Amino acid sequence: MKKPPSAFSSLLSQKCPQCRSTHIFKKPTFSWYFLRMHKHCPNCELDLNPEPGFYWGAMYINYGFGAGIAIVVSVLVYFLLGNPIMEVYMLAVFIVNLLLLPAMVRYSRLLMLYWLGEAKFKPEKFNPDFKSPENE
Ligand SMILES: [Zn+2]
Repeated sequence: MKKPPSAFSSLLSQKCPQCRSTHIFKKPTFSWYFLRMHKHCPNCELDLNPEPGFYWGAMYINYGFGAGIAIVVSVLVYFLLGNPIMEVYMLAVFIVNLLLLPAMVRYSRLLMLYWLGEAKFKPEKFNPDFKSPENE
């Protein structure tokens, strides 16, 4: 029998926290409609929107990702371009944040679901052979 992935690995692969078998998003990360989620997990029926406004808190996590990226990009610009004018920093931070936005928003939501969601892993729900339905 196949061993279920760890919580960290299933979070990275954007899978349901309860069964760790299916993707909770309907579309790939870098595509239009990157935020479309299943209402319920197609495998274990976990409610992926536990309460109204549940994902509002993800904005704060996303802000943290954005700030972290701004710091890293600024340091890289400083060392790679030799302390250019302020507009170069701002443009670099804007572009990198824009390109990584879909991943940041998704992982913010996933962190909310794994961290503050009530769902805990249930080994009996793990089903490695489950195939997600195509575009409901
Ligand atoms: Zn599930």
